[in-house]
Amino acid sequence: MRVLITGVAGFLGSHLAERFLNEGHEVVGLDNFITGSPDNISQLLANERFSFYRYDVTDFIYVAGDLEGVLHFASPASPIDYLELPIQTLKVGSLGTHKALGLAKDKEARFLLASTSEVYGDPAIHPQPESYWGNVSPVGPRGVYDEAKRFAEALTMAYHRYHGVDTRIARIFNTYGPRMRKHDGRVVSNFIVQALQGESLTVYGDGSQTRSFCYVDDLIEGIYRLFNTDYSDPVNVGNPAEFTVAQLAELVVELTGSAAGVVYEPLPEDDPKVRQPDITLARELLGWEPKIELREGLRRTIEYFSGIVKGGSGG
Ligand code: UDP
Repeated sequence: MRVLITGVAGFLGSHLAERFLNEGHEVVGLDNFITGSPDNISQLLANERFSFYRYDVTDFIYVAGDLEGVLHFASPASPIDYLELPIQTLKVGSLGTHKALGLAKDKEARFLLASTSEVYGDPAIHPQPESYWGNVSPVGPRGVYDEAKRFAEALTMAYHRYHGVDTRIARIFNTYGPRMRKHDGRVVSNFIVQALQGESLTVYGDGSQTRSFCYVDDLIEGIYRLFNTDYSDPVNVGNPAEFTVAQLAELVVELTGSAAGVVYEPLPEDDPKVRQPDITLARELLGWEPKIELREGLRRTIEYFSGIVKGGSGG
């Protein structure tokens, strides 16, 4: 197969490209580097089945030759990024999805949308099954990401129903692991980098809000399997093991041996109080469930960031 991945220099895009290459496929990667990093694809560039173009996917995408897959992973995805890049976030979710779907239609390629648990907003139903319609403020600060992804899902279903494009929608829950940026802003990388630098861990609010953290290798396995099914409705992909942010902080302190403790900072506006995927569908459809527990995933991620913090790189 020859597949195109948008956002290939991002955290998930680069792991996904690696997976397709390891399976013997050819990958064409696009990224404009607004949140992605050249470091993430430097290894891949040596592979003759990988080609890369620096490109903004909100513009018309032209690719010569056949494509069997288009996987749309381009988007700022950390709250600090989409608060700083609100227009780009809306554009890549709307115009970028439109261009990527148009390409898939033209090439008669399968399309996979990287959607998000953010479509559920601050959920009134817990855990969240795919049938839940969500609780999102369109005008709140997170609306730029949440609504862009909700629109992207609607557009994907329209291309599926109206144009017959073969589509997949992955609703991705909090994911962590190597290749997150040092200053990504998300909780796992923040806590680990702070602990490794001997700084206090910044717990927002009282730390009682929950998230369910999936290690990147598990997530990529789920996405790869979803791509290879024939199921077009959304599928949750994430790890249902739920933790409070305070518990996460404790675990990072324990695993790094940090002596700096935690500091409490204000809870950001519209910060969801709970989040946990119901993965009944993914288990049945994909024969998949996460295997890497938080403690082990954090250990691997701490090892990665130890090198980054010492080397002074990684954004
Ligand atoms: N959070 C925190 N300290 C940080 C960064 C984040 O306590 O340094 C909290 C944040 O308020 C949220 C949770 O951790 O409740 C997860 O935040 P993240 O930015 O990783 O992603 P989200 O799930 O909110 O999109």
